[in-house]
Amino acid sequence: MELDPSTSAPRALYLHFPFCAHRCHYCDFSVKRASAPPIDVWLDRIETEIDWWFELGDWATPAPLETVFLGGGTPSLLGAVGLKALGERLQRRFVIDPNATEWTAEANPASFDADVGSAWREAGVTRLSLGVQALDDAVLQWLGRLHDRRTARSAIAAARAAGFDRFNVDLIFGLPDEVRRDFVRELEELLELDVPHVSLYGLTVEPRTPLAQWIRAGRIDSPSEERYSAEYRLLAARLRAAGYDHYEVSNFAKPGQQCRHNWFYWNRSPYLGVGPSAHGFLPPYRTWNVFRWDRYERALRENLGPVDGWERIGDEEASLEEIWLGLRTTEGVRRPELGGRAHHERVERWEREGWVEQRNDRWVATVEGWLRMDSLVAELAGER
Ligand code: SF4
Repeated sequence: MELDPSTSAPRALYLHFPFCAHRCHYCDFSVKRASAPPIDVWLDRIETEIDWWFELGDWATPAPLETVFLGGGTPSLLGAVGLKALGERLQRRFVIDPNATEWTAEANPASFDADVGSAWREAGVTRLSLGVQALDDAVLQWLGRLHDRRTARSAIAAARAAGFDRFNVDLIFGLPDEVRRDFVRELEELLELDVPHVSLYGLTVEPRTPLAQWIRAGRIDSPSEERYSAEYRLLAARLRAAGYDHYEVSNFAKPGQQCRHNWFYWNRSPYLGVGPSAHGFLPPYRTWNVFRWDRYERALRENLGPVDGWERIGDEEASLEEIWLGLRTTEGVRRPELGGRAHHERVERWEREGWVEQRNDRWVATVEGWLRMDSLVAELAGER
């Protein structure tokens, strides 16, 4: 089967920058450790990949973008010069209009300051996502992060000083009991900082990480489900009470601060994923790139293309995706889209349990439903 992407270029672009100065203890992302990343090589390969997609899709150039998301890795290692060069290369194929395109770039507090922020704004970045994760030195050290609490606070101040009124702070939760984290204190400090957007990351133990090794060696217990649930409920309650819209299972925004890019994922709109391990959706195909930087870099250099695999999404899978992605957000799922009688009976049972509620003609998950999202989706999938 040939990969035959849709006839027009997607209006959302995800870019993966796969370098970090240090690997955090829980991380299994596509990351290569490098304090001085090969930025020019990355830029060349990204450009080659974009050309490859435009040729494969026979897409018209330049294609307007509604959103760009530069993730990683640690994109702040690009600095001012690398980001500016990236913007120039993207402009060869795309139209990025700072007044219309939402361009989010991730930054780690250890490599971000107001000078970098100002340069990024000039280059077209309109929104930041800061990898804060915690506001406690001992917790940050346990996670293997390079920054401390003071640096995290400085990065938030630097984002504001550089003129970013749209930015996100990532916060991790569900750490093992042994960490003895004072989660309430950190949450109250975050609320005082009054940031515009918060994304949660519930800790998961990935097999090839130092964290998994510590657990296997008996040095630490696995994170408990009770703590995970308690912290999630607390976060939802406190952030909602502080005026945040809990608009997706893991995302909270002050008014007007939702991330537009993520809606492309949740609404099943087409998006292009570029860089090692990047995923894309070019209906009806879901695509994923070669995971490791070294292999990706060689594949592009040898004109072999970036893609490791793809899947054609049939009607049945598409409607299941619509349901589970819809249930992740406050948009929910339109009742008629749920399909057969068995589905409706199941969802009515969820309503009796308090896991979903009806809003107009839609089913929308509650906080308790979001806590059980994986098992609810598995139930629906098993029924089909
Ligand atoms: S900074 Fe992020 S991507 Fe880099 S190692 Fe840590 S968790 Fe992974």
